Amino acid sequence: MTLSIIVPCYNEEEVLPETVVRLSELLQALIDKKKVDEKSRICFVDDGSKDATWKMIERYSTEQPNICGIKLSRNYGHQNALIAGLFNTDSDIAITIDADLQDDISVIERMIDEYYRGNEIVYGVRKKRDTDTWFKRMTAESFYKLMQLLGVNVVYNHADFRLMSRNVIEHLKEFKEVNLFLRAMIPLIGFKQTSIYYDRSERMAGETKYPLKKMLAFAWEGITSFSIVPLRFITFVGFVIFFFSILMSLWILGIKLFTDSAVPGWASTVLPIYLIGGIQVFSVGIVGEYIGKIYMETKSRPRFIIERTLD
Ligand code: UDP
Ligand code: MG
Repeated sequence: MTLSIIVPCYNEEEVLPETVVRLSELLQALIDKKKVDEKSRICFVDDGSKDATWKMIERYSTEQPNICGIKLSRNYGHQNALIAGLFNTDSDIAITIDADLQDDISVIERMIDEYYRGNEIVYGVRKKRDTDTWFKRMTAESFYKLMQLLGVNVVYNHADFRLMSRNVIEHLKEFKEVNLFLRAMIPLIGFKQTSIYYDRSERMAGETKYPLKKMLAFAWEGITSFSIVPLRFITFVGFVIFFFSILMSLWILGIKLFTDSAVPGWASTVLPIYLIGGIQVFSVGIVGEYIGKIYMETKSRPRFIIERTLD
């Protein structure tokens, strides 16, 4: 069985030497234990780095036969770099891992064991995040909660450290969406899946390529690529306003018709404000509903994936 370890790199010259040593050792150990065969590779994807990352990858790949590299034409972002790596290998299984080795690489062997037990997807899940800053933990926590609330199936505290079988990678190709949010797409593929827990450590060197701005953009991508709940919410709010505006209208009419405390012109001014306001928001919501449908259609995701057929 052939393994590919896919490592996206964006300006990672500081950590790369250490990463290469550690991953090569690990791969060699796996080959020695006959868990994977000698054709197994570590594949670095250079996501348009501006530093010496690609030069280093080039050098490593000539020095070591089981290291390969893919260079993207510019910076496409972490998710696209992962896809580029995944779609460019023909190995039996692929494991994606960040270049900074914040994820415990000893988990890789356990992931492979889980694969041999019949799992097609194995998620690496962070048990503790005490090496992350309080702020990062808090924002991540709220993000997972929000996704759950919106009905999106994401594995809690799992980032992009995971094992996927050839079968799963082939099915991933059927997901044609351009706005990638892999950690919510992969669970949609189905098949037997499991998780492995580990402690997340600190970045070995260099600094995070996900500053707050990118993190927020990424979270927003996840929400809007997987949920039309925000659109539904408008319909709901519109309906509530509309409903109360009708009650309000009845009340205004009542005052106008049955009492003499109404100021002239009051009813005809105030009544339309509520009524039309309610109708407007409600209508925007309905339009949103249709846009939501169009949006889901344009993704042209596969409607089903067949695990196996009998004949
Ligand atoms: N990365 C990438 N392209 C980008 C940003 C990041 O390929 O545009 C890679 C980066 O090199 C690393 C991984 O994605 O291997 C995760 O990034 P980072 O460790 O900076 O994120 P954090 O762990 O801080 O969330
Ligand atoms: Mg990191």
